[in-house]
Amino acid sequence: MSNNKRPTWDEYFLKLAMLASERSTCPRMHCGCVLVKDKFVLATGYNGSLPGLPHCEDVGCLVVDNHCVRTNHAEINALTQAVTHGVTVKGATAYITNMSCTTCAKALIAAGIKRVVVFSDFHDTLATEFYTESGVEISKLGIPDRLIKYELEKYSSARKTEKSK
Ligand SMILES: [Zn+2]
Ligand SMILES: [Zn+2]
Repeated sequence: MSNNKRPTWDEYFLKLAMLASERSTCPRMHCGCVLVKDKFVLATGYNGSLPGLPHCEDVGCLVVDNHCVRTNHAEINALTQAVTHGVTVKGATAYITNMSCTTCAKALIAAGIKRVVVFSDFHDTLATEFYTESGVEISKLGIPDRLIKYELEKYSSARKTEKSK
């Protein structure tokens, strides 16, 4: 992708999901999720512990059956953020950095998500099957640039003024 090309809406929101994943507190899995409707961000989420409880990165993971169960996954946290603020997500698109696990896929489907945009695979889950059977469109994008570049001089918002030079 050329550095000079403006990102598409899908690329833009997927990058926002990547930014959200930077907030993840479980070193085993960094995931981000952004729920969007009509180009409007309804809620964001990342893999994280319950409010006020310790983080995996501080006290270690809580592994059961080879999965860390200390955190809520990004999709669930995005949904709970929407619920907390009284936002309906019916008909929204979920931008997720990693293909959902089965549980998160079921939660997004039940909440009325109509489309999922993702760039990675996730093995051993029924997510793709459930999404497809429920009529949720899955769009796979190529992985965005590893670095989200911000060439300051390219944008007038960050151009140096005479004073700051
Ligand atoms: Zn963990
Ligand atoms: Zn999940």
